[in-house]
Amino acid sequence: MVAQAVAESVAEPATGAALDVEHVSHAFDIDGAVLPVLEDINLIIEPGEFVALLGPSGCGKSTLLRLVAGLEKPGSGTLREDDNRIRGPHPSRVVVFQDPTLFPWRSVWDNVALGLEAQGILKSQRHRVDQALDLVGLSAFRNAYPHQLSGGMAQRVALARALVNDPKILILDEPLGKLDSLTRITMQAELVSLWQRKGFTTLLVTHDAEEALFLANRVIVLSDRPARVKADILVDRPYPRHRGDPYLADLRKQILGLLGLDATW
Ligand code: ADP
Ligand code: MG
Repeated sequence: MVAQAVAESVAEPATGAALDVEHVSHAFDIDGAVLPVLEDINLIIEPGEFVALLGPSGCGKSTLLRLVAGLEKPGSGTLREDDNRIRGPHPSRVVVFQDPTLFPWRSVWDNVALGLEAQGILKSQRHRVDQALDLVGLSAFRNAYPHQLSGGMAQRVALARALVNDPKILILDEPLGKLDSLTRITMQAELVSLWQRKGFTTLLVTHDAEEALFLANRVIVLSDRPARVKADILVDRPYPRHRGDPYLADLRKQILGLLGLDATW
C-alpha cells in the first residue's frame, strides 16, 4: 500500500487546470470617478493550453491576470478554475511579474522555498525546492544572493519560486519584458520547454506579438480600455517554432493590424 502510494505520487505529472472566464467586467473607482477596465470578458481555456494576451498599454491585461490569480474580485461575472469558483489566491495559480521581487537577504534557495514555507510544508517538501531550481537550471546558484545574479537569472529564480507550488495555472505578466533581447530569446525557449514538461495551463501577458506567436497556441487580442476580446487566434504550429516561419509572420501582421499598428517591416 505504502509503496503504491509513493509510486503514484512520483508518477503523477502536474497537469493544467481549465480556466473559465464568464461575463467578467471590472471597474476601478478613482477619486469618485468610475474607470471601466474590463468589459464582458469571456474566455474558455482548456487544460494545458498556452494562451497569450496582447493589448494596448493600460487596457486591463494585468487586471485580468489579478482576477485569475484571485488577488482581486471581479466587479461582475465569474472566474472558475476547473469547476471551482476563484475566490482568492491559491498555490495552484501563481503569478510571475515583470520584476522578480526577490528578498535580498535570502539566498536563492530560501527565496524559492517561500511558498512551501508559507504553507507550513517546507520541512517535508524540501526536495521540491531543489527540483524547481533544477527546472530553471539554477541548482549551482542555490546559495547565491539576489545581488549576485544577472537579470535573467533573477527572473529564473522568480519562475522557480512559482513552480515550486506545482501550479495548475501559471500566470505570467510580461515576465521577460525587462530582459535584454538575447536573454529574452533564450528564456522564451526555456518557457516552452518547461510548459511542455510540466503541462500546466499558461496565461501570458506580453506586449510583443512575436513572443506571443513563438510561445502560445492561442493569442487573445484585447481592445483599448475597457478591454474586450477583439480576436481569439489559434496558432496552429508545432514546437519548437521558427521565428522566420511565414505562417507566423502573417499572423503577426494580422495581430499588429488589430492593435492599430501598421506592420510594414
Ligand atoms: P495593462 O496591464 O493592460 O497595462 P492594467 O490592468 O494594469 O493595464 O490597468 C488598466 C487600467 O486600470 C489603467 O488605467 C490603470 O491605471 C487602472 N488601474 C489598475 N489598477 C488599479 C487600481 N488598483 N486602482 C485604480 N486604477 C487601477
Ligand atoms: Mg500590465
